Amino acid sequence: MGAMQFEPTLEFARAQDEADPLRAYRERFHFPSLGTRELVYFTGHSLGLQPKAVRAAVELELEEWAKYGVEGHFHSTNPWYSYHELLTPPMAQLVGAKESEVVCMNSLTTNIHLLFVSFYRPTQQRYKIISEAKMFPSDRYLLETQTQFHGFDPDDAIIEVAPREGERLIREEDILEAIRANADELALVFFGGVNFFTGQLFDMPRLTAAAHAVGAIAGYDLAHAAGNVPLSLHEWDVDFAAWCSYKYLNSSPGNVGAIFVHERHGKRFDLPRFGGWWGHNKKTRFQMQNGFEPMEGAEGWQLSNAPILGMSAMKASLDIFAEVGMRALREKSEKLTGYLEYTVDQLAEEFPDDDISIITPRDPEQRGCQISIDVAGRGRELCDAMIAAGIIADFREPCIIRIAPAPLYNSFEDVFTFGRVMRELLA
Ligand SMILES: *Cc1c(COP(=O)(O)O)cnc(C)c1O
Repeated sequence: MGAMQFEPTLEFARAQDEADPLRAYRERFHFPSLGTRELVYFTGHSLGLQPKAVRAAVELELEEWAKYGVEGHFHSTNPWYSYHELLTPPMAQLVGAKESEVVCMNSLTTNIHLLFVSFYRPTQQRYKIISEAKMFPSDRYLLETQTQFHGFDPDDAIIEVAPREGERLIREEDILEAIRANADELALVFFGGVNFFTGQLFDMPRLTAAAHAVGAIAGYDLAHAAGNVPLSLHEWDVDFAAWCSYKYLNSSPGNVGAIFVHERHGKRFDLPRFGGWWGHNKKTRFQMQNGFEPMEGAEGWQLSNAPILGMSAMKASLDIFAEVGMRALREKSEKLTGYLEYTVDQLAEEFPDDDISIITPRDPEQRGCQISIDVAGRGRELCDAMIAAGIIADFREPCIIRIAPAPLYNSFEDVFTFGRVMRELLA
């Protein structure tokens, strides 16, 4: 991206949009508005916008339910009995997995707990978990309660790798060093693929290899990575992963998440798991006999029959990803995020007293589409004024604004508008 020349003008932004091969996708989403004014939406990292196709997809299932009742499990257009299977191919493609390694089910935190049942098997000797400091709170609570559940003290069992004194990002060499230093006691390396706060993308193949080298398991929370950065979970030899579908995947608030279990664990019926009928051998599921017999692959971790209304929204959204592909998305994403970075740098230069800086990595290889901006000189009131001016972004204490230009529906003009509004507010 170093070769890319940016300009701070509306003409430049519009020319970029004109040349953008993905520009038509913007029309496929509903943009929130305030009165008659359409808002500039930069919070795809929290809740993706609604694809227009979702309404018809959900309405279809409502009609089928009205028409068929229970018979819809087998006789509806997309039979509910196997509905989740429709989501597997696009989801597997999105994260670089084999179809047998992925299934959509439950919610994210629930899924990580279920995966820990199988993959966090601490012993008195090997019980430690390495993770990033300032993890997403749900993950931190999960780690605390999981270690406690197994009889360990979280302060002893959880090793948090933090940025060095005076730095904002975690150095990969420090993670690798923590893995080496705890080699004999390490059970699990568990990281967010992309950190929700800084937007830092970790080198998952490298961390996974380092975990395996000392006999530990490698698992990831991909809430901020799925649909944002290219993933090759199978090839990277990741043991397990889980993610939600309502951030970059635009599937509707709180909708079903997904899991990845590497195929080398998919037939390990010796692994402990919490069972439910939907994870039971499909051939004998309705014989209703005692004796849990898990399905092969990720599907063997399912518990319950699929929530069709939510999954129908998810299907409409995943259809778009299947059509676009991560390669094209990533290409646009790097340019668009680069333009945002350039715009913020210009503001920092023009308003030196406001102490504006970017905390997200500068290297496009180490980030997705999020730029986290420290506005130390201003803080919350600046973000509030920005939202009042129609730019929807996210504020985190003490003074971080997190902005995500999502390549599926954000434009270069959106980024230009952000720069123009901020310039007015700072002046
Ligand atoms: C969004 C997010 C969650 C949310 O978990 P839910 O169980 O879906 O509420 C968890 N972890 C991370 C890292 C997230 O970004």
